[in-house]
Amino acid sequence: MGIRVYQLAKELNISSTELINKLKALKVEIKSHMSILSDELAQVIKEEFSTKTKKISIPKVRKREVFSHKKTAVIEECVKEIKKIEIDFPFTVKDLAIKLSLKPSEIIQRFIKQGILININQSVPEELIKKIGEVLGCEINKKLSEEEKILEEHLRPQDLTRLKPRPPVVTLMGHVDHGKTSLLDTIRKSKIAEQEAGGITQHIGAYGIEFRGQRITFLDTPGHEAFTAMRARGANITDIVILVVAADDGVMPQTIEAIDHARAANVPIVVAINKIDKPQADIDRVKRQLQGLNLVPEDWGGKTVTVGVSAKTGQGIEELLEMVLLEAELLELRADYECPARGVVLESKISKGGPRASFLIQNGILREGDIVLAGVYWGRIKAMFNDRMVRIKEAPPATPVEILGLSGTPEAGEKFFVVKTEDLAKEIAERRQLLLREKGLQKPRKVSLEDLHKKIEKGETDLRIILKADVQGSLEAVKNILSKLPSQEIRLNILHEGIGDITESDIMLASASDALVLGFHINIDPRASTRAKIEGVEIRIYQIIYEIYEEIKKAIEGMLKPEIKENLIGKAEIRQIFKISKIGIVGGAFVLKGKVIRNYPCRVLRGDGLIHKGKISSLKRFKNDVREVEEGFECGIGIENFNDLQIGDIIEVYEIEEIERKL
Ligand code: GDP
Repeated sequence: MGIRVYQLAKELNISSTELINKLKALKVEIKSHMSILSDELAQVIKEEFSTKTKKISIPKVRKREVFSHKKTAVIEECVKEIKKIEIDFPFTVKDLAIKLSLKPSEIIQRFIKQGILININQSVPEELIKKIGEVLGCEINKKLSEEEKILEEHLRPQDLTRLKPRPPVVTLMGHVDHGKTSLLDTIRKSKIAEQEAGGITQHIGAYGIEFRGQRITFLDTPGHEAFTAMRARGANITDIVILVVAADDGVMPQTIEAIDHARAANVPIVVAINKIDKPQADIDRVKRQLQGLNLVPEDWGGKTVTVGVSAKTGQGIEELLEMVLLEAELLELRADYECPARGVVLESKISKGGPRASFLIQNGILREGDIVLAGVYWGRIKAMFNDRMVRIKEAPPATPVEILGLSGTPEAGEKFFVVKTEDLAKEIAERRQLLLREKGLQKPRKVSLEDLHKKIEKGETDLRIILKADVQGSLEAVKNILSKLPSQEIRLNILHEGIGDITESDIMLASASDALVLGFHINIDPRASTRAKIEGVEIRIYQIIYEIYEEIKKAIEGMLKPEIKENLIGKAEIRQIFKISKIGIVGGAFVLKGKVIRNYPCRVLRGDGLIHKGKISSLKRFKNDVREVEEGFECGIGIENFNDLQIGDIIEVYEIEEIERKL
């Protein structure tokens, strides 16, 4: 009769993929989870799995005893046999109970004895795993998810023998109006023969040109903001930066910013001194300014390549491209052409034909029909186009392409991977969606002064900062005092310094480079403030110079304590109580003031008393999960670790703010 792969997997309590892998290891040819296995084969597999799990299952006789009056002693004895278990993260007490063949209530009791309060359907906090392992006398290990297995496969050290040269990827940066867009246009027009198929290039986030038989890829969105935003998402796609400086205007604030952003990313800079056709052009003045910024021009005995160009007349463009190729040669850029394709999303949009996304391929050859996973979306590539909107069947590394077929529009900077099956892609995408929903968009703090001491103990002495002040004089004064910090303990690395308020671009640089942002006598731009929360970047503002020194010194010594303030965000009243299976108690609430936001901390007040402090773990409007509910609306509220809500309880939602110390 036989049994289908997925049915057997279900019986064995494993995923179909896991079973398929197992079958492959046994050299059994199967096509998919729908394939039928013979009864004999199924029996063999079952036995194989039962011997594997024997170590962690508790012998029958004892199992019965477990729930006799000798409970805990027997549990202890049983779990002693268990050395190591592997479990999917996150897991609940119930999952753990199944794994250990114990009753959840027994596990909960054991936890209570250890002062750990946890309910059956609650996911076990990661920081408790070790302790829980100790309580149960076993070692709990994270089972690699399908996603991690795939990524592992993708991120395995590259097979060096398969690496072949690839074209460079170039970004143009510089001050506004210095000619970045014009240069991109001129290069594109002059280097794409009209008779080439399609002729005119389309904007898909990047384009390729051919020069002296070699290809160069230009990213279409110039500027250091886009560059750093990509980096903050972990996508370092630029190999070479062309810094555009207008010969008539010279180095300007954003020129300096661009230099700092490129340097923080360790990307080499080629300088294009633009607008040399203008009568006011003064190339030497620009070179002098560059020298002052440690970009000493080659013809002045330094290492920085500078080329005079005009986007208007086309003068110098050939030389600029030559210099880019030369720089690329030094970088020895290589890619694996044989692995499953992967790369980065450049942009995405919804069009009439469905979601369209442009990708920059970094390794492997991307083909029409491939199944790709990008962020929380996935799909089979229905059609693929190059930058001239010509349909292509395959594309090698460093090529920008636009694809049709994804289930949605992934964010720029998201990585994409080719995966083997649609099932797998879907499974991972859904899992990511769930995680995203659970965790919200807020990232944990990357670097903070409080962590500094711990980092130093671990041997990390590099403290990267972005420093902003009101005027040049105070900037110098702050730098001067910071230079007096004990240098054997800390190596201060100022990635960027500048005058004026803290901007979004400062935050992105800090996020991309794991840096702190320090400000003196300045404000934080509101957009920067929001961005800092999303990116998990710490900003500290000071009014007194000496205080900066004192605080960093304390942080080095591990003496810095955070000052915490709770800001009330909203208040809701519980008007009904629901018991929902699997979730527990949910309060039907009315938002009296402000708003209620999921994952934010909250207090439960009853009369004058504080009943519980916890977190809004679930928030619903009708049947839908929502992130926040505003004043005057009804909602369903679930509170983490708390099942004792009562009608009339007041829920106060607040946020925790660390206050900058001001004298
Ligand atoms: P972006 O802000 O850096 O992208 O600068 P744009 O490319 O938009 O250029 C700003 C202005 O400078 C536009 O009016 C361009 O026409 C002009 N421009 C750009 N390159 C040149 C050049 O080489 N020569 C002259 N004369 N004007 C230029």
